[in-house]
Amino acid sequence: KLGNATAKAELGRATWKYFHTVMARFPEKPTEDQQEALRSYIFLFARLYPCGECAEHFQQHLNKYPPQVSSRKSAAGWACFIHNEVNAMLEKPEFDCTNLGAFYDCGCAEDEKAEKK
Ligand code: FAD
Repeated sequence: KLGNATAKAELGRATWKYFHTVMARFPEKPTEDQQEALRSYIFLFARLYPCGECAEHFQQHLNKYPPQVSSRKSAAGWACFIHNEVNAMLEKPEFDCTNLGAFYDCGCAEDEKAEKK
């Protein structure tokens, strides 16, 4: 079955945006509980992703490259790496993970201020 490639791509773009923004906002020094929350979230995210074929591929990637949750930097770097694995599978160009910087901005500067208080 052909499916709807446009809808699949749109869902993918929206999801990646959200996924990378979650990583960009993960604590720099997460507690054990926060690390476990992110790990569980990623495995459940992979199981429940609405495109079944994508979910299956992504779970295989996860088994090969388990989530890195020890810090914001490692989580964001891991997510960039795993997205590049999907890019490679789909014959898309590799994204330069050293350029992540402020690319994924949640627009929630107010929260950051509150955290520093
Ligand atoms: P996308 O890959 O959607 O990326 C969006 C934007 O993110 C890019 O324009 C770029 O600015 C940025 N970006 C690109 N690479 C990275 C990176 N490594 N790190 C950070 N930012 C980056 N489609 C299928 O056809 N088959 C599948 O099996 C499949 N599996 C998927 C699994 C998951 C978990 C997700 C979220 C999506 C999957 N998709 C799959 C959809 C696919 O990955 C793309 O989202 C879709 O093809 C649209 O591609 P795009 O070229 O617009 O860029």
